[in-house]
Amino acid sequence: MLRRVGLSLRHFLLGRNSSAGHSSCSREAKMSRPVQARRLEGIDKNIWVEFVKLAATYSKVNLGQGFPDFPPPDFLTEAFTRALGGNHMLHQYTRAFGHPPLVTVLAQFFEKLLGRDLDPMTNVMVTVGAYQALFCCFQALVDEGDEVIIIEPFFDCYEPMVRMAGGTPVFVPLRPNPPKDGKLMSSADWQLDPAELASKFSERTKAIVLNSPNNPLGKVFSRGELGLIAELCVKHDVLCISDEVYEWLIYDGKQHIRIASLQGMWDRTVTVGSAGKTFSVTGWKVGWVVGPDRLLQHLRTVHQNSVYHCATIAQEAVAQGFQRELRLYGKPESYFVQLPKELQQKRDWLVQSLDGVGMKPIIPEGTYFLVADISQFKSDVPDAPNSDEPYDYRFAKWMVKSKGLAAIPLSAFYSEAHKNNYTNFIRFCFAKEEATLKAANDILQKWKQEKTSS
Ligand code: PMP
Repeated sequence: MLRRVGLSLRHFLLGRNSSAGHSSCSREAKMSRPVQARRLEGIDKNIWVEFVKLAATYSKVNLGQGFPDFPPPDFLTEAFTRALGGNHMLHQYTRAFGHPPLVTVLAQFFEKLLGRDLDPMTNVMVTVGAYQALFCCFQALVDEGDEVIIIEPFFDCYEPMVRMAGGTPVFVPLRPNPPKDGKLMSSADWQLDPAELASKFSERTKAIVLNSPNNPLGKVFSRGELGLIAELCVKHDVLCISDEVYEWLIYDGKQHIRIASLQGMWDRTVTVGSAGKTFSVTGWKVGWVVGPDRLLQHLRTVHQNSVYHCATIAQEAVAQGFQRELRLYGKPESYFVQLPKELQQKRDWLVQSLDGVGMKPIIPEGTYFLVADISQFKSDVPDAPNSDEPYDYRFAKWMVKSKGLAAIPLSAFYSEAHKNNYTNFIRFCFAKEEATLKAANDILQKWKQEKTSS
């Protein structure tokens, strides 16, 4: 009897019942009313869905989506394995707003970084990656009609997240200043125009999104630039959602400055972080927010009514990773010291490879991304007279299909209105094994030879 019930239930779920009665019933049941919520209008396209698929289909070397292809540190995977086989309660729910050992060590760590006392229970919340942290920020803090300033180029999800919350994004671009003396450009050469930035603030402005180090450019905002943003936030009583997921990936002795540590900013800033970037485990999806309770209490309301809880074992392992890093803080053995050193060398290899073939790199001061100028390659890409697709999209698609090298078009990180001003660049990820970067170099060198001999 039970088996028959189970079987028919399975058939029902899979829609396998082919009796005449059932099919007429399914015809009648077809819905005609619109099903899509209005808040999803215009945000259905996603660069990652399209380019991850292209890379999976065609790439021999994937420098597109941002994730390391080298293993995470042993101390972290060992912590995960210990958690897996240890206390069986780690397989159950933990505290909804963050596993106590993780929020405790994050509070200790950020106390050091921000120079203020933090309460692990009210000033820190753990999320499913930085993505969910951002989602909680926009849902909790942005209302219908609010304006949110977004600095371009920007990590693409900010715009749809603002729109889903009912807000209106207001864009302000970093403007490139070409370097003198034929030197390679640096991400530091991309700057905000102070007057233009100031002009975007109004009484409708609820928040500004800051991303330093910036994905895709690798720009690390200077104290002066952050000071200007902070001044405007205070003047106009505006919140700051500060996405600092690449906080440890800083090169050439530069310093990462946390906007929450500037005068008047703690009370109005939510700082977002990610274990994915911090410990090279993007698949674990452990993120966090740090900020004042008066802001975080509202993020907790979104969290408790949506995701509610994040995987306990991953949180336990990340907590142990941070405990180790706290002990070794600033020491040569610290992963937060070693990882940027290794990545800086990888960055320099890729800079050399690209420069050697005339794909002018913009040297990033941080992150594991590098943007390169492809304006000299226009004759390589077949014309598409009937296509309104920007050149960088056509180039990136053509490159992965015909050369096997995957990258991401830069205009994907711009608003619709400004996209067309930035179509001569693509973004590469250099958090890759030496062999992967060498394989990329081989593709580029072969390409260069074909160009010179044709
Ligand atoms: N912010 C930025 C700037 C990012 O680049 C990413 C990931 N690419 C995220 C947030 C999301 O991080 P997570 O994988 O931890 O959700």
